[in-house]
Amino acid sequence: MNCRSCSSTSLQLVIDLGYQPWGNDFQLIENHIYTEKYPLELYFCHNCTLTQLGFTVPKEIMFVSHSYLSGTTRTLRKHFEHVASEIINRFKPSPSCLILDIGGNDGTFLEHFHNLGFRTLNIDSGTAQSQVSIEKGLPTINDFFSLESASEILDSYGTVDIIHAAGILFHLENIHDAFNGIRLLLDKKGILVAEFIYLPTMIEKTQYDQIYHEHLLYYTLTSFQSLLSQHGLEIFDCDFFPIHGGTCIAYISHSNAYALTRRLKKAFNDEIIKKVTHIETMLKFSENVNNSGLALRSIIDHLILEDKTIFALGAPVKGSTLLNYNRIDEKIVPFAVEKNLFKIGTYFPGTKIEVIEEDFANHPDVYLLLSWNFKDEILSNYADFLKNGGQVINPIPFPEIING
Ligand SMILES: [Zn+2]
Repeated sequence: MNCRSCSSTSLQLVIDLGYQPWGNDFQLIENHIYTEKYPLELYFCHNCTLTQLGFTVPKEIMFVSHSYLSGTTRTLRKHFEHVASEIINRFKPSPSCLILDIGGNDGTFLEHFHNLGFRTLNIDSGTAQSQVSIEKGLPTINDFFSLESASEILDSYGTVDIIHAAGILFHLENIHDAFNGIRLLLDKKGILVAEFIYLPTMIEKTQYDQIYHEHLLYYTLTSFQSLLSQHGLEIFDCDFFPIHGGTCIAYISHSNAYALTRRLKKAFNDEIIKKVTHIETMLKFSENVNNSGLALRSIIDHLILEDKTIFALGAPVKGSTLLNYNRIDEKIVPFAVEKNLFKIGTYFPGTKIEVIEEDFANHPDVYLLLSWNFKDEILSNYADFLKNGGQVINPIPFPEIING
């Protein structure tokens, strides 16, 4: 196998999470569909330091009829609003500017620009997501982003001033093709705003459930820049946000188009100090993952001995990694409560845990919090449950029981 960025064969397996279904394979219960399982292994490249999955589930399986909707959580909507106003205040795009969102999902991000009168374009491979985006009045292309679709966009719209890509540039199977497309489309002074889960935070907080088949690449700024350099692109600034457990926003342009900011230089330096591009750090991460999983099973085994009922709280993709890796199935957790209506009436991938509508469920004794990245928002919604003696297990970074 070759590195997805630099093609080196010098790859080392660092974390093996076993055979797992792809995490968004929520199948309707009545369809009785067996969810396929694939290896979920994390490798480290000794040449360019990029951390990546070894196995690729074909994109047509994962990204056409999936159920993730950006607009479902208040926290994410607010985050996108914030990023949009940062872009407007800082780069002052004129109203004639085109804002392209790659993998723009249901249009939650673009709406802010649309409402302010900017020209917008969403390209998303999800059928349901594109439909919602179109219903919001946003020009939407239901397709994968590639060099080919980029040249079609170029023909119809010209170069693009601002490209936004949240959680997509580490999803792409053919990453070099996508960056060729971005390079082609991006105006001379254009800006690519890339949001991705930041590997150093994942390591620091033992977020092993962020590893799933949709996430093929796990970037540090160092490994990301090494990839971008191959396409004449350069990170000139970065910012960090707690969304999704730890997100980095990289501001990218054609090489040498903008001066590098002081905070970017500091972030690169922090990566050196924290040794996040060292194999030893990855092996320590692997050890912490193992210990965190064992501790979670121990807490759950105790609760089961005490005859406590446990439901999963939320049905995010990463919950699938956490449940399957720790062998938590329907005998331990019979139900998962969830807001996203697309998932109601399905089984959690790889298990027979039923996903039921949050508002109609009777509370169990204990919830296992799977959407821990929205912990504050969720716990405030569950204040009464906790006050009445209910408990919540927060599994990440290290399992703990939250009492009222
Ligand atoms: Zn490499």
